[in-house]
Amino acid sequence: MDGAGRQLVVSDASPYLVAPEDLGTLLPGEPGFRADQLRDWLYRSPVLTAEEMTNLPASTREAIGASLWPFEVEVDQSADNGRTRKWLFRAPDGAAIETVLMGYRKRTTICISSQVGCAMRCTFCATGQFGFDRHLEAGEIVAQVAYANAFLRRFPISGSPERVTNVVYMGMGEPLANYERVRESLRRLIDVAGLSARSITVSTVGVVPGIRRLADEPWPVYLAVSLHGADDETRSRLVPLNDRYPLEAVIEAAEAYFASKGRRLSIEWTLIDGANDSDDQARRLAAIAKRLRAHVNVIALNPTPLSADRPSDSDRIHGFVETLIANGANATLRETRGQEIDAACGQLRLRSVTE
Ligand code: SF4
Repeated sequence: MDGAGRQLVVSDASPYLVAPEDLGTLLPGEPGFRADQLRDWLYRSPVLTAEEMTNLPASTREAIGASLWPFEVEVDQSADNGRTRKWLFRAPDGAAIETVLMGYRKRTTICISSQVGCAMRCTFCATGQFGFDRHLEAGEIVAQVAYANAFLRRFPISGSPERVTNVVYMGMGEPLANYERVRESLRRLIDVAGLSARSITVSTVGVVPGIRRLADEPWPVYLAVSLHGADDETRSRLVPLNDRYPLEAVIEAAEAYFASKGRRLSIEWTLIDGANDSDDQARRLAAIAKRLRAHVNVIALNPTPLSADRPSDSDRIHGFVETLIANGANATLRETRGQEIDAACGQLRLRSVTE
């Protein structure tokens, strides 16, 4: 009961699992502005504990209490001199959720998960090796961003913006295979939390119907397409989904996205020794990138214990990027962050499972 004798029924479930417009249902008898205040704390100015929601009555803060977050922080690691932070969150049902926060000079970027595990089974990926557990709820997806903002408020990354400026859906899972919940998470991040759509990137390994649906949404988010192979044979070996949605279908869907949004596409390419690091692949990839007017992000494989795939050596990595550029592609060799903390998607979870 609160001081006025009203029953507070903030449920055991986290308020992030309730749609922002329905937060009033958690506060029956409270004036409408209380729900607005709670929504602001959750989405606009997140804090680590309900106690810090200073304009809410003490009884409400107490009722939200321990259930503020839809997960517990099981692992909290930092690397790269504190510029990279990696969390393994644990939901009440045991689901493990990985999130990585990276501080740069002008950006603070968060890489969020959209599923627990992944059904896509890309051969080189730690997440893919464990298969699919479940979809993340929209609230579990946005809570990763909110938690990072609450954390940054107390523990900023030196020399980086003190709020998340960029969100990439590149953690565990295939976002477009969890379309409705990912869509709702985008709505909350953009329309409720106030993030610019231009600061959000949705990454896909090539779920063609999802790319086409996303093209019809109102938000001009960036699309990143993970190709990893520049012909069907090479790609199918690394990305089994290619058998369902072959390269040309993925390229055509990406072209349609570009036509709809006018947003520059990016192509993600994990470079794997002997699998996709030849100059021939680089030339074919350059042709695709030019056709899509896309920027290519090349990243060296972060090897995982359960896969024989290994990263290309440094000479080959640079040779591959040089061939791409010599053939007219815009390409960047992406820095690999947090290798000492298993920061490739799914590696922390993999470790927690195997240990
Ligand atoms: S690389 Fe991405 S899509 Fe492929 S298995 Fe891993 S998480 Fe899933």
